[in-house]
Amino acid sequence: MIVADDRAGLLKARETLGIGAGAFSGGSALALVPTMGALHEGHRSLIRLARERAAHVAVSIFVNPLQFGPTEDYSRYPRTFDADLEACAAEGVGVVFAPSAEDMYLPDRQVGVSAGEMGSVVEGEFRPGHLDGVLTVVLKLFNLVQPDVAVFGQKDAQQLAMIRRMVADLNLPVSIVGGPTVREPDGLALSSRNRYLSRDDRVAALALSRALEAGAGQALDRGDGADETRVLAAEAGRRAPAEIRRAALAVLEAEPSLVVDYLVLVDPATFAEVGDDHTGEAILAVAARVGSTRLIDNVTLDIR
Ligand code: AMP
Repeated sequence: MIVADDRAGLLKARETLGIGAGAFSGGSALALVPTMGALHEGHRSLIRLARERAAHVAVSIFVNPLQFGPTEDYSRYPRTFDADLEACAAEGVGVVFAPSAEDMYLPDRQVGVSAGEMGSVVEGEFRPGHLDGVLTVVLKLFNLVQPDVAVFGQKDAQQLAMIRRMVADLNLPVSIVGGPTVREPDGLALSSRNRYLSRDDRVAALALSRALEAGAGQALDRGDGADETRVLAAEAGRRAPAEIRRAALAVLEAEPSLVVDYLVLVDPATFAEVGDDHTGEAILAVAARVGSTRLIDNVTLDIR
């Protein structure tokens, strides 16, 4: 496994792996899994997905200052570099790209990606500028690593949708693959931030996945496991979206130590709230704070 911390190191790694320096071969030579480190089983599942899609896998480890707000947890975000390298080696990763913030951003940086209107709703409403920061670093990582394929988790559903939008809007020659959310046996979605949770916080945090389950309460079918979509049967006259929101909200409201930022049922492509007559896919997404830790989770529903 090659560890590169700058562009020259990346080019050398490409050469060593026999990928060559040519940008965007349009094939399946190299898959990138962008991460902020503190790797857990969710990240590892994406690495395994990447290995199925390409001959070589690159993992980037970079805590991106641009995507944290001034009052957020950039400085205390967990950093576990040695363990991350071990995890990457165990998963057969070819290249780890771990640049410094100084290497990534010029001090007089001017230009970045705008996430547009879609970047100012849902997560964007509560984290202004966050999705601009995500898209900017992802575009930079694509340009530096030059992957054919890039793998992201459905756990950050709006991020994944916006990356697909950026690829379409800016004609980026990268195939985007989404991976299902990996959970603890009790339903809690794995997150690098879970390690901040006290024992009581962790119990309260379970309300997020329980709320999503309640919203998807009429699930008939767990799907084929590829995208975890729950299929809901809408009986004649039933206002499924309103019922879904109500059932989920009731679970959140029963947990007094949660501060809910949002619970929304949105169109997967636009993240606009769906109306009560909506049929087809929708994402039920939640964000809440437990103590000083902010958690997000979501589930994809197919309302028929
Ligand atoms: P992060 O390191 O939190 O920026 O996440 C890096 C990638 O891992 C993103 O594409 C996330 O959506 C994905 N990810 C985070 N948590 C999970 C999880 N529990 N299951 C699957 N993918 C995840």
